[in-house]
Amino acid sequence: MDFSIQDLQHVMQADFFSNKSIDVIDIADVSIDSRSLRNTNNTLFFALKGQNFDAHFFIQDLISKGIQYFVVQEIPQGLDDKAVFFVVKDSLKAFQDFVAFYRSKFQFPVIGITGSNGKTIVKEWLNFLLSSDFNIIKSPKSYNSQVGVPLSVIAINENHNLGIFEAGISLPNEMEALEKVIQPNVGILTSIGSAHDEGFENCEQKIIEKLKLFKKVEILICEHNSEILNLISSDVNLLTWSFKNQGNINFNLINVNVLAVISDFGNFEIQIPFIDKSSLQNIATCITTLLYLKIPIADIQKRVANLYRVEMRLQIKNGIHNCTLIDDSYSSDYQSLKIALDVLENHKTHESKTVILSDIFQSGFDEDLLYAKVEKLLLNNKIQRVYAIGNKIKNHLNLLDNVIRFDSTQDFLFHFKDENFANETILIKGARSFGFEKIVSLLEDKKHETVLEINLDAVSHNLNFYKSKIKPETKVMVMVKAFGYGNGSYEIAKLLQHHKVDYLGVAFADEGVELRNAGITMPIIVMNPENSAFSTMIAYQLEPEIYGLVELNAFLKIAQTHNLYQYPIHLKLNTGMNRLGFASTDFDDLISILHGTNLLEVKSIFSHLATSDMPEEIEFTREQLTKFKSWSSDLIQKLQINPIRHILNTSGIYNFADHQYEMVRVGIGLYGVGNDLYEDEQLQNVATLKTLILQINNVEIGESVGYGRRFVAKRKSKIATIPIGYADGIRRAWGNEIGYVIIHDKKAPIVGSICMDMMMVDITEIDCEIGSEVTIFGADLRVTEIAKAWNTIPYEVMTGISQRVKRVFYKE
Ligand SMILES: *Cc1c(COP(=O)(O)O)cnc(C)c1O
Repeated sequence: MDFSIQDLQHVMQADFFSNKSIDVIDIADVSIDSRSLRNTNNTLFFALKGQNFDAHFFIQDLISKGIQYFVVQEIPQGLDDKAVFFVVKDSLKAFQDFVAFYRSKFQFPVIGITGSNGKTIVKEWLNFLLSSDFNIIKSPKSYNSQVGVPLSVIAINENHNLGIFEAGISLPNEMEALEKVIQPNVGILTSIGSAHDEGFENCEQKIIEKLKLFKKVEILICEHNSEILNLISSDVNLLTWSFKNQGNINFNLINVNVLAVISDFGNFEIQIPFIDKSSLQNIATCITTLLYLKIPIADIQKRVANLYRVEMRLQIKNGIHNCTLIDDSYSSDYQSLKIALDVLENHKTHESKTVILSDIFQSGFDEDLLYAKVEKLLLNNKIQRVYAIGNKIKNHLNLLDNVIRFDSTQDFLFHFKDENFANETILIKGARSFGFEKIVSLLEDKKHETVLEINLDAVSHNLNFYKSKIKPETKVMVMVKAFGYGNGSYEIAKLLQHHKVDYLGVAFADEGVELRNAGITMPIIVMNPENSAFSTMIAYQLEPEIYGLVELNAFLKIAQTHNLYQYPIHLKLNTGMNRLGFASTDFDDLISILHGTNLLEVKSIFSHLATSDMPEEIEFTREQLTKFKSWSSDLIQKLQINPIRHILNTSGIYNFADHQYEMVRVGIGLYGVGNDLYEDEQLQNVATLKTLILQINNVEIGESVGYGRRFVAKRKSKIATIPIGYADGIRRAWGNEIGYVIIHDKKAPIVGSICMDMMMVDITEIDCEIGSEVTIFGADLRVTEIAKAWNTIPYEVMTGISQRVKRVFYKE
């Protein structure tokens, strides 16, 4: 689309600098992310600058990739004549203003959704319920932030005729900008909870802020709730729903899964698939919206009955014979088929693609036209093989080469042969009524079902336990090095960011880069920065630990070339560990170097204890603590600085809380492993390593099991084989009846030697079968016990669990 320079300058209030004379630019794409670029020549790049991230660093690189148009807060040195620059005060605001301008060029109806809970579900459900009547543009996933909303809205094009966007806020004064970007005609307020109240003085202030989204809507749909209605200005038109006969549209649950609807639009009954409280609220919101949009009642009844759990859509799973499955067995409308085919393309691990597809409902097209469109979609996506299941679809798709047709799911299951599926990516997509989960269950690979389950609630609990040991004002840094001690880095970091932990600690720069790329914006310290990674660290706002004069000088040099100002660094002192750190004899040089520069800022001074968990070494720990006290005061006084000081790790917090200074560093404790039995009892278990029984063998007296015949049965035994071995991190030292696993709450001794990928356990006295769950460690068999038997420490057991073991995260 063409934009005049004059308009752009005006809309973004920008100064304009160009290396060529132009009046108009053709913008085909807008980007804020240097990693995902499409139409480079016609991309307008917004260089955003956050607390922990600055895209201005990438501009030079982007110019070399062919980007010509930039919106920046300042032009990086030496690039003035290399591209076209719009210089603005705030590039995020300019991005929002630009998208608002773009949005105003489209006239179709747009639904804007906000509230505390249910935004994403209502958006996804409305998309599902309305997809046969409209070409919908909606926010992907839960893109609802100051950046996410404009990114969603910029994807509008001429073919759309309905928009559905969600808006989320966490601070006062954020909604105004989102309102300008979305410009909704229809407003939806979902339920208001107490979530995310931190940024607001009270609930009322939060509601008033949210209501700003609806400044100009023609209708606002919300629950009849007098507390909220009192805050809505009287010139907003309302359409309210209620389960208490107070709204314009009233709902009553008259049977386990039947709602009675009473309203001016008509009275009717409707089957609903879910009846938990929040689903009921979201269903009421959706039905009200559909009635407002004049969708016929019969269609509403049919579609609502087919609503699916949003989090169950499009799951990617391992299939039999090296297949990858994309499980979308909960919906079958035409729009979602398009989306699912995109996902298939993006996640295909094999060239060969198969689609298993049921009849398609709710398309809004007549049957021939619908399946002609489906046929074209499948052709365009180069699908090698299609299983067409259903009375309707089996009569179509005649232009495709390889279509296998069945009347029903039953029919497919009856003819199913697993050798027909191998080395391909399979999309399984069907309406709920087809019960395609049975197909998924046949195709899913249950063999390598070894998983490390991570309980995120337990992580929160353990964090709070250590917080309770320190003063409220003491800052907390959490060590997430080595893939969060083996427990998963990004997912745990995300949780810690939510809990407003002050710092994360990683070992290497690339661990930090990974966290940044995954959306972690909080401060991150790199404990072992390698000189070669300094530039990367600066680009990603990662803060180095500086542990010696050599590193300090090397970092200074890089700081000069990047023109840094007071870049945060963390000085590590060697008080006795003799691993990394400045010696007191380095201090004179250290002080004179830091005096001469304002490129760096000493954000913190710290040291590390070698024996904080060893009561017998208390004298040594005291010595380290004394040195730290006097050395850090010395530096603070001579450098005239006011840094954060920290020396306590997990067991330090437990044993020496007096020395917490301004920050502590929690590691192993967060992952549920404490210093002693008493501490362990107060922590919750985080990681559970689980697998399934693969096969069961009956072994006669005198028969042996496994390599080297290390086990010989002294009685008639039942032996189960389970798919986990030393390549997964379970040491051979745990075999030969020293260790055990837990099956149905009973101990099953490991018999014979542990193999690379498997081990055998004695289940003679346990009632179990192939597929029964096996626990290797968890709440009932703590890592600490295993570590003792292996003559090592829990840290090594946890970080040793191989990356091929899938991590699964859950909250209760
Ligand atoms: C790993 C590490 C910690 C955390 O130690 P835990 O014993 O796991 O609490 C703290 N500080 C430094 C410097 C570390 O390397």
